[in-house]
Amino acid sequence: MKKAILMCTCSFACPSMKDLNIPELAERVRMEIPHDFMLLHGRLCEDNGENLMESLLKNDGTIYITPACKIEKQKKLLRDGFQRAGVEMTDKIWKPVSIQFKNTDQAFEDIKKVVEEIK
Ligand code: SF4
Repeated sequence: MKKAILMCTCSFACPSMKDLNIPELAERVRMEIPHDFMLLHGRLCEDNGENLMESLLKNDGTIYITPACKIEKQKKLLRDGFQRAGVEMTDKIWKPVSIQFKNTDQAFEDIKKVVEEIK
């Protein structure tokens, strides 16, 4: 089982992420949270994000952790990317984390918790 972290940065411009230092967050996640791979994308919910998801996501037991906007919003906005990849967004495969309205430490702790809970 692999753990893949797909972090969506919302164009690095979303007011709801203004308290996040995204480069610092990404580097802390990379260094301190065990996982198989991580990527950052500016807008996973737009065409080029969905293209990426279609090419990358696999039904091979990989668990996808998505630090991004509110979970309910991700559910709608990331649906097409998962669908195009043929990967079902079940609770087992998809682990969303909301990093909106958080500072870097809070977002880091929330991502860490979700990744550590994966068995
Ligand atoms: S998926 Fe969410 S965080 Fe990512 S660009 Fe779309 S609205 Fe922003």
